[in-house]
Amino acid sequence: MKRDFSALSGEFDLLVCGGGIYGAWTAYDAALRGLRVALVEQGDWAGATSSASSKLVHGGLRYLETFDFKLVKKALTERQRLLRIAPHRVWPLRFGVPVYDDSRNGMLKLKAGLTLYDALAGFPPDAMRHHRFAAQNFLEHFPFLATSGLRGGYTYGDAQTDDARLVLELVAGALAHGAVCVNYASVMTWVEADGKVCGATVRDELSGASRSVRARQCVSTSGQWLATNEAERAWCRLSKGVHLVLPALPTHEAILLTAKQDGRVFFIIPWYGRTLLGTTDTDYRGDVNHVAVEAADRDYLLAAANDYLQSHWTRGDVIASYAGLRVMKQSDAAHPSAASRDWEIKTSANGLHHSVGGKLTSAREDAAVIVDAVCAPLGVSAAGLSGARALPWAPQQDFAAWSAGVTARAQGLGIDAESALWLLRRHGNRVEQVFELVAATPQRAARIVPEVPLIEADLLWCAQDEMVLHLSDLLRRRLPLLILARLGESRLRACAEMIAPLLAWDAERVEREVATCRA
Ligand SMILES: Cc1cc2nc3c(=O)[nH]c(=O)nc-3n(C[C@H](O)[C@H](O)[C@H](O)COP(=O)(O)OP(=O)(O)OC[C@H]3O[C@@H](n4cnc5c(N)ncnc54)[C@H](O)[C@@H]3O)c2cc1C
Repeated sequence: MKRDFSALSGEFDLLVCGGGIYGAWTAYDAALRGLRVALVEQGDWAGATSSASSKLVHGGLRYLETFDFKLVKKALTERQRLLRIAPHRVWPLRFGVPVYDDSRNGMLKLKAGLTLYDALAGFPPDAMRHHRFAAQNFLEHFPFLATSGLRGGYTYGDAQTDDARLVLELVAGALAHGAVCVNYASVMTWVEADGKVCGATVRDELSGASRSVRARQCVSTSGQWLATNEAERAWCRLSKGVHLVLPALPTHEAILLTAKQDGRVFFIIPWYGRTLLGTTDTDYRGDVNHVAVEAADRDYLLAAANDYLQSHWTRGDVIASYAGLRVMKQSDAAHPSAASRDWEIKTSANGLHHSVGGKLTSAREDAAVIVDAVCAPLGVSAAGLSGARALPWAPQQDFAAWSAGVTARAQGLGIDAESALWLLRRHGNRVEQVFELVAATPQRAARIVPEVPLIEADLLWCAQDEMVLHLSDLLRRRLPLLILARLGESRLRACAEMIAPLLAWDAERVEREVATCRA
């Protein structure tokens, strides 16, 4: 994957502004249909909400309580589809729901909800369906949960991903089908002719140079930046969601809990050998360029979780935290949690299409709607292919057999089992290229930091092949190391020095990148 700002020349069929999950699916889908596509992102791929999610590919059990059956069915259909077309990128994850004496939903109501959830997913295989457990058996799955008042619980199937890598794989897929995809390239102004949008002035954030990019159709998938335009501000409501990263708990399953403070649903989720605790959901009216985790967000989440844990987490246990903004359709619901997560396409009078709201899970289907809307005026009748085609890095063989072979090969190269599992999820069929780096230099099988299952060869491969421009691109999104470990200055410098020869960074650049990462 190479960045080439100068390739933004000539006339495109479609210009997409914003390289989060919506922009990435839109560009990939349009490129698959044969359109000449340009995708520009002002920062790094998935630099905003699409790397700050809960990383779940799910129907959203809680939306059943608000009778949003259509949304849940749509998301569950997409979940099943992504498990099929991207088994390396989206993998099953079971969730537990404990029922206590004071739980809002008792065993019966939960049973009804989970049966409906399975039905809306089209009654998937048993491994994805719900199961009931008596209290003692439930604790075998989640031995760290408080036992007092526990009546029992259920587990049910959903799925998980690495959000930033999902975006990156789609960008790679769009590039492979001829799209021009450039990160650190901002749309400064939309250009119109005869009242119709016909392109944009795009600035290269590396050189400061601008160029006019012509396109017959234009789409804005700019997420929270939608709210920076006066006209479009009225279409949306923003809410902030915070996650804390904590040490691993003794389980491979996630838990859905209800905060005792306010009755909101939150999750405890295993990810890369750590635990994600989130999320908050609070109306946001601040600067969309600087979304921060506040002490109150952290304390809310710790208190909510500690109500259910035998051994309490403290502030000192928090390894890292991150915040993102949800864009939702405008609503007058009293609390953002009650606002619909549904997505819509809006088209301005000048023909510019805007993506408003949505979910990581259902972005593929929504993007197909965007591309349909783009194809009509272009007179292109090609049907969408993104729903049936395996993702670009999906192995062609049977996934279980492929995984077993890759795992054995990784172990033969001295890569530990947990790192091997994450390697194949991260790289899919490109994992062989990482193996080649290890085969050439066996020390590269070592973990970058001992507590996180990410190896040095992975760091090098991402740096050389995945359009990395800054250290933070590499350490936050290509590998999410910045949120999985406490990286002090010396660890950051060691990472920067390891990749410096690949990116032609001199000592001064290394220092600058380390300083930016620390900030
Ligand atoms: C806390 C939280 C947890 C969530 N968890 C889940 C979950 O588990 N599962 C799920 O399905 N959904 C989840 N969601 C929802 C999901 O993350 C979002 O719907 C999705 O990431 C939004 O993607 P997007 O592409 O619209 O926006 P973004 O990812 O924000 O992308 C927009 C991009 O546009 C770029 N941009 C803006 N202006 C310009 C410009 N002028 N020029 C060039 N580029 C520009 C930005 O830099 C940005 O990268 C969660 C959301 C939040 C906030």
